[in-house]
Amino acid sequence: MKKRMLFIAGNWKMNKTASEAEKLLVELKAKLASFEGKLNIAVCPAFTALETSSKVLKGSNIAIGSQDISAKDSGAYTGEVSAKMLLDIGVQYAIVGHSERRQYHAETDALINAKAKKALSSGVLPIVCIGETLEERESGRMNSVITTQTKGSLSGLTAEEIVKTTIAYEPVWAIGTGKTASPAQAQEVHALIRKLLTDAYGTEVAEKVIIQYGGSVKPDNSNELMNQKDIDGALVGGASLEVEVFYNLIANAVK
Ligand code: PEP
Repeated sequence: MKKRMLFIAGNWKMNKTASEAEKLLVELKAKLASFEGKLNIAVCPAFTALETSSKVLKGSNIAIGSQDISAKDSGAYTGEVSAKMLLDIGVQYAIVGHSERRQYHAETDALINAKAKKALSSGVLPIVCIGETLEERESGRMNSVITTQTKGSLSGLTAEEIVKTTIAYEPVWAIGTGKTASPAQAQEVHALIRKLLTDAYGTEVAEKVIIQYGGSVKPDNSNELMNQKDIDGALVGGASLEVEVFYNLIANAVK
């Protein structure tokens, strides 16, 4: 029996217009209603679909997250979206530091840390992503990369803030590739992250933090992954874009 309630979030990336999101979520809302109280669920559409999605999901058991959030409050930051803007349309979560943003937008641990802090101080719950590349894993640097990213991205968070933060371990080599970390490989890194949290905050706090796994999670591997001791949910890309697939992934995860 898991001590922590599972949290499964769909990261839609740059997919689905607002009208496509509306259509999908009307169906998804009905389909996932039976999971009320069994796990926490969120979807993270593109910024342009957030408001529509939020309206469709109002009062349902599916929360809304954005895929990024600004580290700034307001002002001359072209293209940025603030916590206040997100909260105003009912957004509860924000993915921060996804590997695609680290890779294509040169996001650093320091910036990710500033975004996580801004989210938390504003009332948005961050999903902070970390993960090693294949080259880092194969050259034996996995543990040091995970340690550096965990400490850097979460630097200075209080105990109260860390328990509101979700950490998503997403090995870069497993994202969108169809290659999943084996449950044992994923558990090994989750245990390392839990140990880093224990060293920083003590066991009681560390045991409360939700650590998701992400990287080609599908209906046929969600159960085994979620049954690992320190895996408390999933951040799901491709498999969150179709109602039936996402439903089956969740149904197997909670079995
Ligand atoms: C992701 O985008 O965070 C992700 C894990 O993608 P996928 O499930 O498609 O590998």
